[in-house]
Amino acid sequence: MLKFYNSLTRKLEEFKPIKKDSVALYTCGPTVYNYAHIGNLRTNILYDLLRKTLTFNGYKIKHVLNITDVGHLTSDADTGEDKMEKNASTKDEVFGVAKKYTDAFLENLQSINIQLPDVMPKASEHIAEQIEMIKTLMEKDFAYESDEAVYFDVAKFPRYNRLTGQKLEDMMLGARQEVVKDPKKKNAIDFVLWFKTVGRYQNHILRWPSPWGDGFPGWHIECSAMSKKYLGQPIDIHAGGIDLKFPHHTNEIAQSEAAHKKPLANFWMHGEHLLVDAGKMAKSEGNFLTLKDVTGKGYNPLTFRYLVLSAHYRTKLNFTWESLTAAQNALNNLYQEISSYEQPKVGCAEFEQRFQDAINDDLNTPKALAVAHDLIRSDYPGSAKLQSLLKFDQVLGLKLRETWEATRNIPEVVSRLIGLREEARKAKDFVRADELRQAIEKEGYLIEDTPDGYRIKKKF
Ligand SMILES: [Zn+2]
Repeated sequence: MLKFYNSLTRKLEEFKPIKKDSVALYTCGPTVYNYAHIGNLRTNILYDLLRKTLTFNGYKIKHVLNITDVGHLTSDADTGEDKMEKNASTKDEVFGVAKKYTDAFLENLQSINIQLPDVMPKASEHIAEQIEMIKTLMEKDFAYESDEAVYFDVAKFPRYNRLTGQKLEDMMLGARQEVVKDPKKKNAIDFVLWFKTVGRYQNHILRWPSPWGDGFPGWHIECSAMSKKYLGQPIDIHAGGIDLKFPHHTNEIAQSEAAHKKPLANFWMHGEHLLVDAGKMAKSEGNFLTLKDVTGKGYNPLTFRYLVLSAHYRTKLNFTWESLTAAQNALNNLYQEISSYEQPKVGCAEFEQRFQDAINDDLNTPKALAVAHDLIRSDYPGSAKLQSLLKFDQVLGLKLRETWEATRNIPEVVSRLIGLREEARKAKDFVRADELRQAIEKEGYLIEDTPDGYRIKKKF
């Protein structure tokens, strides 16, 4: 049975898709004004894991991830600047920034072996859909217009706090004031659907005509509009980082349900924070790390993936260079072990069942990794272990097949040294045999003697 923790009900629930064998998955993507930090990448590993686990269970997936390139404002109420326009002065420059960081983001995903989503819609290319949805909300009286903006009227949507379970007054403290001192704003918690390019936003570069005058969409409406366009409503799963629960996901639910009188998604899943040296990552703290910082120190990018898998997605993960080194050692041990295995055949059913039970239990990857290590230590033949490990890797994504295949061709020089060592051992010249073992190690290979003869491993 496949079970996920549903943030909406705060319960572990059996997953059943709306359609029999396909799953509609929407995940909130990056605002492309800067490089992704490793906390963002942890969230994207969750999306990938979710996708691979669903595939492992036989489902077809349609996965949509949005690219935010307009309307995501800084949380500073005094400036309320659009993050995308910070370092730009023309439309081309804004889209140039977006392209640069979108490309870098996709490159990051590929280097940690994340399968790219099926659709990656950009907010700026779906303005018509967003306007259409705001029009519906106006017609149904869930939205109202002031001189500066169009707002969602939270008082008209009684279950607004469903996702957070908090009191409205407490949520108010967390809500940011996107338009300050707007005398026509009814409630502080009301959020913007459409910004007019007047007042503080009169110099906003990206702007489109709308029934409410020139302007640009609020941040939240893009996901509601694009999820509906590409996946319909309701969908099976909507996922994001935990910091998106409020206001972003709370507002998405309010807009979509008010406009279409149907749930937005049946399952809501949220990945916990990644901390750096036990603190929250922030540019101002000097601990803002990107994948480049990790690979720049010589780590394989998949080491970061392994580290992320070693913690459950609903627990905080504390990143330290020591923990990354430990992950590197664990991953290298795995690579080293499989390099000695013969051609994969007939897997180990017992371990495969344990593995599937672990990932189907709300993506319990620490347990799944433990099953992989138990399998390696077991008495099954290497060929059987490899067969099962390659199956596990359909979910883990650690490139075990590529790594194993790359170790298949033992260099000529190593083969010759192995032959000489075997001769020395037969002649009981153990000093010479040991010298040859060291020579083999210098070439990057380890030789071990077992009751059935020697075993050769590539050093990682
Ligand atoms: Zn979103």
